[in-house]
Amino acid sequence: MDKIIVGSEEWCTLPELGLPAIKARIDSGAKTSSLHAFNIEPFEENGKYWVKFSIHPIQNNRKIVKHCQAEVIDRRTVKSSSGSVEKRYVILTRMSLGNLNWNVEVTLTNRDSMGYRMLIGRQAMEDRVLVDPSKAFCLDLIDEEKAKELYGEPSIKKRGLRIIVLASNKDLYSNKRLMEAGEVRGHEMIFVNTKYCWVNVNATKPVVHYRGGEILKNIDGVIPRLKPSMTFYGCSVLRHFEASNAFCLNRAQSIARARDKLRSLQLLAERGIDMPITGFAHSPQDTTNLIKMVGGAPLVIKLLEGTQGVGVVLAETSKAAESVINAFKSLKANILVQEFIKEAKGRDIRCFVIDGKVVGAMEREAAEGEFRANLHLGGTAHPVKLTQEERKMAVAAAKAIGLEVAGVDIIRSKNGPKILEVNASPGLEGIERVTGKDIAGLMIESVEKSVFGAKARSLAKVPRGS
Ligand code: ADP
Repeated sequence: MDKIIVGSEEWCTLPELGLPAIKARIDSGAKTSSLHAFNIEPFEENGKYWVKFSIHPIQNNRKIVKHCQAEVIDRRTVKSSSGSVEKRYVILTRMSLGNLNWNVEVTLTNRDSMGYRMLIGRQAMEDRVLVDPSKAFCLDLIDEEKAKELYGEPSIKKRGLRIIVLASNKDLYSNKRLMEAGEVRGHEMIFVNTKYCWVNVNATKPVVHYRGGEILKNIDGVIPRLKPSMTFYGCSVLRHFEASNAFCLNRAQSIARARDKLRSLQLLAERGIDMPITGFAHSPQDTTNLIKMVGGAPLVIKLLEGTQGVGVVLAETSKAAESVINAFKSLKANILVQEFIKEAKGRDIRCFVIDGKVVGAMEREAAEGEFRANLHLGGTAHPVKLTQEERKMAVAAAKAIGLEVAGVDIIRSKNGPKILEVNASPGLEGIERVTGKDIAGLMIESVEKSVFGAKARSLAKVPRGS
């Protein structure tokens, strides 16, 4: 028999269960296949054992629910990849994969509520399937949008939103990608240059005007991408959009917090999130104590207004540190002083967080002779596998500042990971290139979820008949 080649994930169909599309993980590490179901209940009919269960067939979508039933052919003790042992019902059902279809044994588990709905194990693949783990969706028959339509949910393309990208430069990679990702998903994307927005504070309705007299109204979502020099004005405009009930992917208050480095470090410290020893002082008379507090030289001095590594200085000796600190102070610059994490060897990790989940991460490595890993200072970036602790830390840091979208920078020290910074408008170019992921698309998806969720909630509040 000709074998089909499948990638690490594929869409399949389980016709006897009434499931036209299920995205499955090809799991050659597991023997049996499994379906992630809930409300799994056995029952007896005509002397046979059956099981009924419900399933959210589309990953990360709790709205679509299918109720299924099948004859139980066995009960088996299965050890999951996490090592836990569970007694599961086994059913036999037809599966179509590409142009083949055959009967497969599937165990039912409710272990994981939001991961893959189905894992296809070795037994089901025997003699029929070859796996190319470097690929995905080799069969290319269905995609998520199509799957939703098959379950009767109108595609997003038919429900376009009006989304603003509030930024300064249309030609920047990140802004271009956001516009493009929104348009691909059927939304009306409007690029708005922050500095041309104006507001009538007294107006009865909170509307934002735009150069040329246009009123930016009926806006569903705003993605702020404010450059540092636009933080104050941009946040004021954003607050106006918030008041007009547009969903803002990062609210003004959180952006303002993130832009104040000391405030954000204080918020992280309050929540017990680890960072390099950090201090600040106003008077030059306290400089010596400040240096002592972070453990002496070498140490890092950071200008609070600096971004992308500019204004981050490494002082090799206490004398040098004292001179730089006092020089900055005489210029009335606000600075912080930080313990130097030497063992990081010029590397740090950028975690891209959306809605409480790390959706991509990369390690940045400083150029030869440089300790700052920033890409525009000659740093290079490559993929990195995060530890559980780092993942949790990145999510907790974004949450502490209140950001839905954040670029969390982590440095690996000998005492574990430490947070360097939480960025409210993380760039997309490096992370998309290194991870190969559609991060812009995920940001648009986050706007969709919030807007559609809010609409559904407000509809639910409308009393019947009104
Ligand atoms: P910016 O916001 O200007 O990018 P960061 O605080 O992220 O400033 O610092 C820039 C780079 O300098 C980081 O990416 C990291 O590589 C390096 N760096 C910053 N702080 C430390 C530190 N305490 N120890 C070692 N390296 C550091």
